[in-house]
Amino acid sequence: MTVRQHWLRADVQALFDLPFNDLMFQAQSVHRQHFDPNEVQISTLLSIKTGACPEDCKYCPQSGHYNTDLEKEKLMKVQAVIEQAKEAKATGASRFCMGAAWRSPSKKDMPMVLDMVREVKALGMETCMTLGMLDGQQAQSLADAGLDYYNHNLDTSPEFYGEIITTRTYGDRLETLDNVRAAGMKVCCGGIVGMGEGQEDRVGLLLQLANMAEPPESVPINMLVKVEGTPLDQIDDLDPFEFIRTIAVARIIMPQSHVRLSAGRETMNEQMQALAFMAGANSIFYGEKLLTTANPEAHADRLLFKRLGIRPESRVCEGSDDALADNVRQCMRSAEQDKFFYDAANQ
Ligand code: SF4
Repeated sequence: MTVRQHWLRADVQALFDLPFNDLMFQAQSVHRQHFDPNEVQISTLLSIKTGACPEDCKYCPQSGHYNTDLEKEKLMKVQAVIEQAKEAKATGASRFCMGAAWRSPSKKDMPMVLDMVREVKALGMETCMTLGMLDGQQAQSLADAGLDYYNHNLDTSPEFYGEIITTRTYGDRLETLDNVRAAGMKVCCGGIVGMGEGQEDRVGLLLQLANMAEPPESVPINMLVKVEGTPLDQIDDLDPFEFIRTIAVARIIMPQSHVRLSAGRETMNEQMQALAFMAGANSIFYGEKLLTTANPEAHADRLLFKRLGIRPESRVCEGSDDALADNVRQCMRSAEQDKFFYDAANQ
């Protein structure tokens, strides 16, 4: 299927302007052309180094610029990370994401980080990291260690960006994303809505993502989690339907990407999460903590999935040569995950 490569602002705006039901119908139709509509990919996220970040992202409780109650933690030991990854695997996660609150990883920390990638990978899970800005060499060593995905968000439109972050530029972010691509890793890149931006900024963010030479494989759409002590803690709530619209437009203009329901899910009721899945969201973070903000408890997620008839995403069981053995192993793992998921749901 041909995927449209270049989107114009007017086209994306026109999608936002559609009546809600028309937009949902279009998003769901596009979704069905590319994905099983009843499957959702599940990732677990662990904060491997928490707080005291030198950047000034106004939404973030981990920034050292703001006074929040967050407990700072140094880089975790490799073994402790592996234990958490094993637990995540046992509860159905296929991908393990590790996040560190850094401007960029230091020379001293890189060897530990690379060990984490190798060892989580050896458990048979996909790996993802978010460590801040990367130069070409750092990106290459992560790729060589087996890192599958690198997360680096654009956060918002280029026009609104300066209202939110001043310590790194939009261009810095794009450069890191280029380094990640050049090293051969998959890209996880999205943004946050509800930060006081206008709809034109949500259009601008999605345009940036969809018009990349290769759109990100994974597009997290976060709803701002207001944390006391951060500059955005008093900002007005975004209309929940506008959040769903953003998901739907992301689905339509990035038809082959996984659109991830990310931070902010805690404040969404089940009906809103179901609408988000209908709009084409097909990936979630699963587990009790999403870096440093609460995430709906794993058990509640299992029950919701069961009520909606949603299954954890399975892999494509086809291929040839060496890929075949790998795919078979992956499919077996996926069947194991189904078992864990539904057993747990029946408790
Ligand atoms: S979002 Fe990331 S880079 Fe920005 S302050 Fe938080 S941890 Fe640091």
